[in-house]
Amino acid sequence: MAEHRKSIREVSPIDVYLRLPRTNCGDCGETNCMAFATRLVNREVLPEACPPILQPESVQAYAALSLLLAPPVRAVTIGTGDRAIVAGGKYVLQRHEFTYSHPAPIVLDVADTLPEKEREDRVKAISSFSYQYIGRDLTLDAIAVRAASGDPDTFRRAVHQVASLTDRPLILCTLDPKVMAAGLEEAGTRRPLLYGATEGNWKAMADLAITHRCPLVAIAPGDIALLRSLVQTLRSCGIEDLVLDPGSFTDDGLAATVQAFTDIRRAAFEGSDGLLGYPLLGVPMAVWLGEEMAPELVQWKEACLAALLLTRYADMLVMHSLEGWTLLPQLIWRFNLYTDPRRPVSVEAGLRPVGNPDRSSPIIITTNYALTFFTVESDLKGGHADCHLLVVDTGGISVESAVAGRYLTAATIAGAVKSSEVERAVDHRYLVLPGLAARLSGETEEATGWRVLVGPKDSSGLPGFLSTKWPPVAPP
Ligand code: SF4
Repeated sequence: MAEHRKSIREVSPIDVYLRLPRTNCGDCGETNCMAFATRLVNREVLPEACPPILQPESVQAYAALSLLLAPPVRAVTIGTGDRAIVAGGKYVLQRHEFTYSHPAPIVLDVADTLPEKEREDRVKAISSFSYQYIGRDLTLDAIAVRAASGDPDTFRRAVHQVASLTDRPLILCTLDPKVMAAGLEEAGTRRPLLYGATEGNWKAMADLAITHRCPLVAIAPGDIALLRSLVQTLRSCGIEDLVLDPGSFTDDGLAATVQAFTDIRRAAFEGSDGLLGYPLLGVPMAVWLGEEMAPELVQWKEACLAALLLTRYADMLVMHSLEGWTLLPQLIWRFNLYTDPRRPVSVEAGLRPVGNPDRSSPIIITTNYALTFFTVESDLKGGHADCHLLVVDTGGISVESAVAGRYLTAATIAGAVKSSEVERAVDHRYLVLPGLAARLSGETEEATGWRVLVGPKDSSGLPGFLSTKWPPVAPP
């Protein structure tokens, strides 16, 4: 049994405190060591923020602290520089226990048998794939170059071309060490992930990983015991940066695949099995190797397998389909899975222009829940409305919940009106409240001194509302 890396719930501030210098010197910016220990447990700071523990006399304490705080699933870095990606580094089995760290990289494959121009187009399409989702730019993370040819020279040329076209991290995919060595001649300094080591080739692959200082995938489809043994062997060679591929099967193998991923992850957390405490690689593109069928059906199967594996418990995915309808569900699901469940996704409060507002444009009230804000903004832009959007800080909570929880009140609206100095931006004194906050209209008029118009319950109705109700008719 390898060493037991504790889950985040098993580490207490006292455990951490006992490994700190305990001088309360304040060099970390905290008032004492206990306060720093609490922040370390919450992963709000790094141990390196305590200068005394980095001194030579504290080497052992630093090592003990690092081990204590190491996640049960190792974090493995692929690539170098700003574009490097990290797989794994999980502190908890379930997202709601804390938060998932290091969103699972989504990797697209490129075969070395593709004609050069097609390969160039595919690499460019992968690198430029982007989707705006509630203010975030969702993109693909890396490229897996597959040695479908089995020929070292062909693979070397393909790796050279891909590496020169993109700064995305690479995965080099071949089970033949000679072919892998050829690919590494072109990309060895970029710290690619090597895919990979099996029961049959592990020695030669381990040598390549050590020589080029690259992370390595241990592959044992459908056999967790063999996978564990392979990890033990590779670790005994001195390789720690490992990624596990327990096999991704579809159709009749789907249930067993999800079960294997789950068993491995549970073994790392609940069974304290350090040999299985490594990132898991899901390969939804394996569906393309099955029986021939319509491409749309294979893409659908790939999308389903990818979503299942993201959920349980893949730390990285290799996919083939570049279709938006296959990839977008994964990107959005990943985004939601890896947000901090303790903090709603929010935007900054304040006054935002939409279109080209002037001094006669309406002021629309909304909350700073990201999904609400971007939906309202998108609906207004879609209707070519020119207005001022006054975003009230509701702690990242949507309109209806914020009204119910008293995060959106006449007082918070009045506070937003005051702090934004919106009266300087317009000549009128009207606010448009969301229809779901209609019951605040009277109190808001009293608290702000502004007249209130109640807008539609759904922001998709805002353009129509403004076209008929704005400018307002002043009461006689
Ligand atoms: S810098 Fe280190 S020793 Fe000093 S108070 Fe902070 S945690 Fe304690």
